[in-house]
Amino acid sequence: MAGKGFTTRQVHERGRVGGSSPRATPIYLTAGFSFDEYGDAAAHFGSGEGYAYTRIGNPTVEAVEGALAALEGGSQALLLASGQAATSVALLSLAAAGDHIVVSNHIYEGSRGLILDNLSRFGIDADFVDDIGDPAAWEAAIRPTTKALFAESISNAANRILDIAAVSAVARSHGIPLVVDNTFATPYLLRPIEHGADVVVHSASKFLSGQGAVIGGAIIDSGRFDPAVSGEKFPHLVAPGRNGAPSIADRVGGDARIAYARESVSPRLGPTPSPLNAFLIGQGIETLSLRVERQSANALAVARWLAAHPAVASVDYAGLPGHPDHALAAELLPDGFGSVFTFTVAGGAGDARRLVESLDVFTHMTHLGDVRSLVLHPASTSHVQLTEQERRALGVHPGTLRVSIGIEDVDDLLEDLDRALAAGAAPVIPASVAWQVPA
Ligand code: PLP
Repeated sequence: MAGKGFTTRQVHERGRVGGSSPRATPIYLTAGFSFDEYGDAAAHFGSGEGYAYTRIGNPTVEAVEGALAALEGGSQALLLASGQAATSVALLSLAAAGDHIVVSNHIYEGSRGLILDNLSRFGIDADFVDDIGDPAAWEAAIRPTTKALFAESISNAANRILDIAAVSAVARSHGIPLVVDNTFATPYLLRPIEHGADVVVHSASKFLSGQGAVIGGAIIDSGRFDPAVSGEKFPHLVAPGRNGAPSIADRVGGDARIAYARESVSPRLGPTPSPLNAFLIGQGIETLSLRVERQSANALAVARWLAAHPAVASVDYAGLPGHPDHALAAELLPDGFGSVFTFTVAGGAGDARRLVESLDVFTHMTHLGDVRSLVLHPASTSHVQLTEQERRALGVHPGTLRVSIGIEDVDDLLEDLDRALAAGAAPVIPASVAWQVPA
């Protein structure tokens, strides 16, 4: 670039990228990639070879996708800009106008909103299953147009645990996938694909990144799409492409679902992650097991302590023997029960508010899976759009608080809760009613 104008040189002069291999994942923070040879451009547009534009593919993003696919025991992963983007792209890669999905009633409220308010406008209908432990309830909701079952492995709010083997068997018998949101469990505690699920989604904003610094999401696919069994249900995966090009299934076989998501849904709708966010998620994943192990141990200690406190009416933590899904949790989650759960203070909304305002180590915010302990009042925030009756059915009462337990020293968490519960000034509850949720 010698001899060129300052502005020309300002945008073109760079040192060489390369040399010895960097140990940390390099951040390819670039919108696009130059084509070294003239023919490289045509090769990319023809067969997808190499990199061209970060919305379509980026080496930093792919490095993290490789890590996620390996840790979830899947064939491929697709990193996206948020957990919401992951659920949207996963479901839109399976269902179209006129189709139907069957959904657990025990899901993140943002996912419920997506399904009820947005996918419905695309002509995708949904039925919700409340008794998620009963395979017959799932079976009964399936229609000829059903293209997926969707549930959370550990549910947001009441810690319902999904019997993945049983529900995926129902899905398989109809040639459709079970899509599992594995955000709360993380692949360290539970890998749904090993139990029969075919698609896993994550909010990577949570445990995967762990530091609360980024928003991200991911889809991981089992790679077990079988055109002979499911081709009729998913014509977009088996039909020839434009101008008679081979179908996606012909090109990639069992990876047809995720290839369609990568090639056709994500780049067209555009929820691409920033390579910088991808890098941060990749850094987070390197310490996932250590954080989740500690968080789960802390959460169990906090849940036990809360359950024994007279001002606490109930604790919805699958790690406690009194939880309705405890036996299933003990079977599916041998390394820990996760660290997000709800508990209900006996004194109702006023005491819940005083408790939140008195906590010092816990941060009051709408997030979870952070290294720091967090607290939120679902009835007035995440679940505010539901009716009182709907909230009650999901275990969200006026005195319910959701906590996400961090990696702090557990004694500091207990001391914080002890002080705040005292400040909440809950009246002393007679032992005979201490375990009843307020009406
Ligand atoms: N799935 C679950 C279980 C969640 O809790 C959340 C967010 O709280 C999401 C998905 C959405 O993720 P994001 O906030 O990254 O879009």
